[in-house]
Amino acid sequence: MKVIKEIKAMQDISEFCRRTGKKIGFIPTMGFLHEGHCALMIKARDESDIVITSIFVNPTQFSPKEDFNDYPRDFLRDYHICQSCGVDYIFCPQAKDIYTKDYYTYVDVNSLSETLEGKYRPEHFKGVTTIVLKLFNITKPHFTYFGQKDAQQAAVIRKMIKDLNIDVTLKVCETVREKNGLAKSSRNTYLSEEQREEASVLYKALNEAKRLILEEDYDDSKEVKKAVKNFIETNSPNSSLQYVAVTDNLNLEKISNLKDYEGDILISLAAYYGKTRLIDNILFEK
Ligand code: AMP
Repeated sequence: MKVIKEIKAMQDISEFCRRTGKKIGFIPTMGFLHEGHCALMIKARDESDIVITSIFVNPTQFSPKEDFNDYPRDFLRDYHICQSCGVDYIFCPQAKDIYTKDYYTYVDVNSLSETLEGKYRPEHFKGVTTIVLKLFNITKPHFTYFGQKDAQQAAVIRKMIKDLNIDVTLKVCETVREKNGLAKSSRNTYLSEEQREEASVLYKALNEAKRLILEEDYDDSKEVKKAVKNFIETNSPNSSLQYVAVTDNLNLEKISNLKDYEGDILISLAAYYGKTRLIDNILFEK
């Protein structure tokens, strides 16, 4: 496994791999890797000849009030995890090379970036799509792997790939969870043991919502959202729910009346535990 820091060096390697007929699988990450990232890297290892993982804490997707400076970083730990997952190249550029002093260009997937998370993190997805497109241009992948944990991110990237005719296949992998159901996240490191236990209620609430829709025939999504809120307030008194939404998985359009709805249902939420903001979702078919 090689560590590449220079953009041009990574581009040359990717170009060489392509020209010699190798299929490149690429996993963009912000590091502080966990089993969720590993699942993406292992799937890429299975399906590609060359696996590239990027580790870059992207400043443009954090608002000034968010945790960019505090975001956990441990390169040595990440190095060993990548190695154990069969990664060929870690690409870890420096922010000053990615965003040069005269940097002007941003990619924005309108509408999809403004709903759900976008309401609370207005510039977030513009930062995400910009860095992901730049990383695609540097690593030149055939396949790219994202987690369903960040359902809206996957939807926004899917739309960017389609709208801009980017020649890459997006693969979205299931959310990897702790035994208690809490979605694995680099940010879980901010949580105390008690908070980690309590935060498992989020996924239980999402499962309860799924049950209400599929088994109890709830047909008003307002009632479903109310039930999720109550469930979380009752079982996790130290949480603060920011939003819960019932949408489709592709366009993230609200589903109000579930009665005659057929297709994918995505229930997503964000909640605070102290200063730590967690997101989670459940995706199922009706
Ligand atoms: P991040 O390092 O948080 O930017 O995440 C990098 C990639 O890993 C994104 O595509 C995430 O959706 C994915 N990811 C993060 N957590 C999980 C998880 N628990 N299960 C599956 N994928 C995940």
